[in-house]
Parts: sequence; C-alpha cells; structure tokens
Amino acid sequence: MDIVAHTLWAGFGAAWLARRRPVSRTAVAATITLAALPDVIQMLPVLGWWWFGGGSLEAVRAFAIALPGREPVMPEWVTWWSHNIHCVAHSAVIAAGITLLLWAWRRTLWLPLLGWWSHIVIDVFTHSADYYASPVLYPFTQRGFDGIAWITPWFMVANYLALAAAGAALFLHARRQSRVRPEFSPADPTRSPT
Ligand SMILES: [Zn+2]
Repeated sequence: MDIVAHTLWAGFGAAWLARRRPVSRTAVAATITLAALPDVIQMLPVLGWWWFGGGSLEAVRAFAIALPGREPVMPEWVTWWSHNIHCVAHSAVIAAGITLLLWAWRRTLWLPLLGWWSHIVIDVFTHSADYYASPVLYPFTQRGFDGIAWITPWFMVANYLALAAAGAALFLHARRQSRVRPEFSPADPTRSPT
C-alpha cells in the first residue's frame, strides 16, 4: 500500500485503541513512524549512493516511484542492500523475532510494533505477483501472496473512501464523547460542576 495510506491506517488504529486504553502521544507517533518506515529505509542505500557515490537525484526519484522492471540502473551493492532491507522490513518472520525479544525484555508488548505489523499484514494483500509481491516469509522464501496491487485505480479509490469513512467515524465519536462528558477540572476555580 502507499505510504500515506499506511500512516493513516496506523494513526486511526492508534486513535481507536486510545479510546479503550491509555496510549501516550509518543507511542502514537512511534506507531505511525513504524508503519511508514518499511517503505522508507530501503531508500537508504540509494540515498547513500547519491550522496557519496555516483548516483543522482534523478535515480533516487525514479527508484521511489518505480514499476516492476522499470527500476533505474544502480550498482550491484545498492540493489542488493536496498532489496534485502526491503525484505527484512516486510518479513513477518523477522518482526515476530523482534516482537518476542522485546516482549521477553520488557515483559509486555511494545505497542508501536503494531504499526510495523499493520504495514506487513496490509502489504501481503495489497501487492500482487506482478507488483512486488511482499516477501512476508523472508528469509525462508522471497515469494509472496498474489493479492490486489494497491496501485490499481479502483482499489486506490476504495481505500481512500474507507479511510475517509474511518476518519469521519473517529471524529464524530470524539465529538459525541466531548458533548457527553464536558471537560471539567476540579482544580479550576472558575468552573463549577453545579
Ligand atoms: Zn511496504
């Protein structure tokens, strides 16, 4: 899925969760960041090539919006690192390992990991065999599920309509809640409950 939709879904998910249990602003920001990161960090080798080597901004731009088979020609090391970083970031196997390690260390689930998991799960179904099938089982296999490519126009429209509906539902719920429970601070001497 595109990176904007990833961050919006993760943000809405965090907002929904925050209605049920306390979630800090930092945790919400980290959740959204982790939902976007898998599609960003694969750019690092390409950016490094541009910055330190013979790459160009044009190649960086072409890589960011490439279609299968239309990627810019890059040095072998750039392609290798970029590809493998992408695979690691989209792997449920790697994410499960890190989730369990952090869980064992902190004795609780680190909530922002759900942002990363949302990216992995969504991408499994929104990529197809001919549009960068998501390597969800990397490093065991780089093959992925043949889903619906998110770039398909009707899917883009349906996805953003669903996002608009989810955003509106959250907004209306928040407004209803603020009407039912007007903000009152007992420490505020200018306001009285009567
Ligand atoms: Zn992705």
